Amino acid sequence: EMVNINELFNYLLDRFDMIIKNDDKPDKMYKITRKFTRKALWVEIDTDRFTQVIDNLMNNAIKYSPDGGTITCSLYETRNNVVLSVKDQGLGIPRNSLSKIFDRFYRVDKARSRAQGGTGLGLAISKEVIQALGGKLWVESTEGKGSTFYIALPYEPMEEDLWDEN
Ligand code: ATP
Ligand code: MG
Repeated sequence: EMVNINELFNYLLDRFDMIIKNDDKPDKMYKITRKFTRKALWVEIDTDRFTQVIDNLMNNAIKYSPDGGTITCSLYETRNNVVLSVKDQGLGIPRNSLSKIFDRFYRVDKARSRAQGGTGLGLAISKEVIQALGGKLWVESTEGKGSTFYIALPYEPMEEDLWDEN
């Protein structure tokens, strides 16, 4: 269906804001910051599957940031895409694991992540969902500093949007 990704992403982050606030762990202060275009951006997606992708990226950002920190989410458009990103200040991903984290069941340092739980399927499923939409999912990360996951989805501005700009 055609979905306003701006509204959906905001709605999903509102839910995480509530979870974070209800999850009273004084030693782990998480904060979500949004850098969003104000435009409505209509894209063809399956809302349930897309929700699954954002839930996994946000859960990862929280799980792999043991000391809390700011999770910065952004939404903007480029010439042919809408781009969403989720940036954390967590453990980061070692360089030699960067290409593997999208593989099924792969988890960086099993001892490290065992405590956090999880199957290692989240990113593999997320990548399939985004690729099925003709989009891309990728990561930039520095070990010890944090990670940024990006989603680019094909986007054609609607005629009304173009009119708005004039
Ligand atoms: P699941 O999502 O199935 O519950 P999972 O979170 O372990 O389990 P993925 O979401 O596929 O699986 O992530 C794979 C691995 O990539 C994780 O186990 C973790 O080692 C690493 N990883 C993913 N996101 C981050 C992140 N934001 N920061 C650091 N490491 C990450
Ligand atoms: Mg996960």
